[in-house]
Amino acid sequence: IVSLRNVRKSFGDFEVLKGISFDVMKGEVICIIGPSGSGKSTLIRCINALNDIQEGSITLEGQEVHDPKLDKLALRRKVGMVFQQYNLFPHKTALQNVMMAPVLVLRQDKAEVEKRARSLMAKVRLSGKEDSYPGELSGGQQQRVAIARSLAMNPDVMLFDEVTAALDPETVKEVLVTIKALAEEGMTCILVTHEMGFAREVADHIYFTDRGVVVEHGPPAEFFANPKDPRTREFLDQVL
Ligand code: ATP
Ligand code: MG
Repeated sequence: IVSLRNVRKSFGDFEVLKGISFDVMKGEVICIIGPSGSGKSTLIRCINALNDIQEGSITLEGQEVHDPKLDKLALRRKVGMVFQQYNLFPHKTALQNVMMAPVLVLRQDKAEVEKRARSLMAKVRLSGKEDSYPGELSGGQQQRVAIARSLAMNPDVMLFDEVTAALDPETVKEVLVTIKALAEEGMTCILVTHEMGFAREVADHIYFTDRGVVVEHGPPAEFFANPKDPRTREFLDQVL
């Protein structure tokens, strides 16, 4: 469903991505791990064209993401993205946050959208919090509202960039449980995460990146049990 071929990306003279290739099949969950500054966020942002690329190709369902003729809004409708910072609208309730894009962007029927938004709130296990404002919710709850808000657009792929990094340890789990449930329902997910236990449990495939290249990748059982590259070993020694 997503395919990267030799993707190169620079900021000025600084090459952040130095030829990244991988494929994600429909329903797969892949985790990207690696040291700070290795280009993980940049990579995620290239996939939904928030960043441009200098070389290579990224396709989503066969369409070139970086084709200048491609409708970027249509693309972003198919690709949900959740960041480390929740970015909810503070003056809207949780339910209004979830409803906003389908009503304003897709111009869908409000009553229909509300029905779906309520079921998405239930899905992220926040029934009863529909009328709370972001400021009245915990970080983990806000992050789950952000996930529900992305899902409201019915994306084909979800991108998660360190969505639990800013959370208290107690609330990390509830967000991971939500993502895991999504993955089990067959949602295609590309996650950048520092949660190695989660990656091991949920991912179909792990990619370890360092300094703009994929150093090593494999199914989690193999990847964690038997890392081959010294850089992978060093990284895992630090985080496990
Ligand atoms: P972290 O784990 O800390 O989130 P990361 O792997 O997500 O790190 P990126 O945010 O992708 O790393 O950044 C990779 C490199 O690109 C860093 O050296 C960063 O300084 C640089 N970089 C990122 N965004 C920009 C930008 N808009 N302009 C210039 N340099 C940038
Ligand atoms: Mg990052």
